[in-house]
Amino acid sequence: MNSFNDFGLAEPILRALSEEKYVTPTPIQAQTIPLLLAKRDVIGIAQTGTGKTAAFALPILNHLAANRVRPQPKTCRVLVLSPTRELSGQILDSFRAYGRHLRIHSALAIGGVSMGAQVRSLLNGLDVLVATPGRLLDLIQSNALRLSGVEVFVLDEADRMLDMGFIRDIRKIVAKLPAQRQTLMFSATMPEDIAELGRQMLKDPAKVSVAPQATTVERIAQRIVHVDRGSKPKMLSDLIQQEQNVDRVLVFTRTKHGADKVVRGLNKDGISAEAIHGNKSQNQRERVLKDFRDGRVKTLVATDIAARGIDVDGISHVINFDLPNIPESYVHRIGRTARAGADGIAISLCSHDELPFLRDIEKLIRMAIPATGTASQPRPGARAPQQPNGRNGNGHGRPAKQGQRRDGGRNERGGQRNGQKRNHERNDQHQSRNGNGRHQAPPAHAGQGPRPIASTQPVSSDFAKVSFMQPR
Ligand code: AMP
Repeated sequence: MNSFNDFGLAEPILRALSEEKYVTPTPIQAQTIPLLLAKRDVIGIAQTGTGKTAAFALPILNHLAANRVRPQPKTCRVLVLSPTRELSGQILDSFRAYGRHLRIHSALAIGGVSMGAQVRSLLNGLDVLVATPGRLLDLIQSNALRLSGVEVFVLDEADRMLDMGFIRDIRKIVAKLPAQRQTLMFSATMPEDIAELGRQMLKDPAKVSVAPQATTVERIAQRIVHVDRGSKPKMLSDLIQQEQNVDRVLVFTRTKHGADKVVRGLNKDGISAEAIHGNKSQNQRERVLKDFRDGRVKTLVATDIAARGIDVDGISHVINFDLPNIPESYVHRIGRTARAGADGIAISLCSHDELPFLRDIEKLIRMAIPATGTASQPRPGARAPQQPNGRNGNGHGRPAKQGQRRDGGRNERGGQRNGQKRNHERNDQHQSRNGNGRHQAPPAHAGQGPRPIASTQPVSSDFAKVSFMQPR
């Protein structure tokens, strides 16, 4: 499918798409739209940035346009579940943009704002409701909403939902849906627990995938800078000030506290920056996002969860101030750049204690990320002193440090208890991987001598452009 006209979408939708200046469907759209128009259930493996929102929103709008019935009071015909408030808001915006010439009643059901307006918007029934799981259940419990009229159910970012501990909420919600429905599930990765959820929720689903599972978006130039933990703030400021073609920078930290600290450091160095994380009110988050989108704030510092729903075009650089302890998060993070056909740059600051995270990431993306480094630590390829049997005593393949947790800082929400459990499960996996020694294989860039640090030169010269995943 080379054109949106080939799908047979309703004219008002095509008109909206041409106003949005969408000419060619993205690969996920080309695969998914015909299946959904044929009323198939679909599992999609696709990251944010691939155009997956339109991939499901367009056929759903087409269904609504072709079947004009008044929704029953306190029901919705289409339910989209997403893990975060921001992502929910962006999905709703997409439905409204593509459906602007249809008379579609749509609303948001997210936490952090009062329930009154949401209850009122449900009174007459809705065509499309985009919700986060907790608030949706609250609305059901207070008899503001019934799910008996749902015709299409979308579970977006399923892997992140599970990471955030929403699995029980999702099961409760799915149990309230009518058996006769169309179901779509999208996820950036497809670990076994997501596949199992899919088997329970979907009927004979068609599978679409735009990238091999958990591999890295190919347009992104990636680079690691090895640096002492204490030197990271200065390195970050240097990078932002000396990098070329910096439009918008998204900086990731593992914790909310860390995000605030990074912002203070950047401000001290004369760089305007704002933080976005779960401690900020909904209004604050929206204001900061708007300033970032409008270019008033060039640097946004975010935690994984807060950043999950950020859909801002033109992010030129993603900088990982901390490496994520869950390797899939790396893929999510760097996917924030290189959106909608643009090139992007992802730089990760890696301190010695984060080397095991780096190994996990390189294993997942099946490539070695080119590196430069400061020299006060072993090069990544150099073996850290090992205990017998390949571990160094703490089971994590790295020196034990007080207060360090592999799941550090991910408890941004109350609902994350399960998420933490999941992290522990991952830790167990990690231990066993360490146990069989596979983590000790030196990465492909081992043996390169130290090179000057990035702050003294345009980093792009050190990047490898990744066209295909190279088997290690
Ligand atoms: P998503 O993966 O749904 O978050 O979409 C990523 C970005 O791509 C959004 O800013 C969309 O507006 C944009 N986009 C989606 N589909 C297309 C398309 N076919 N042509 C151009 N831009 C698109």
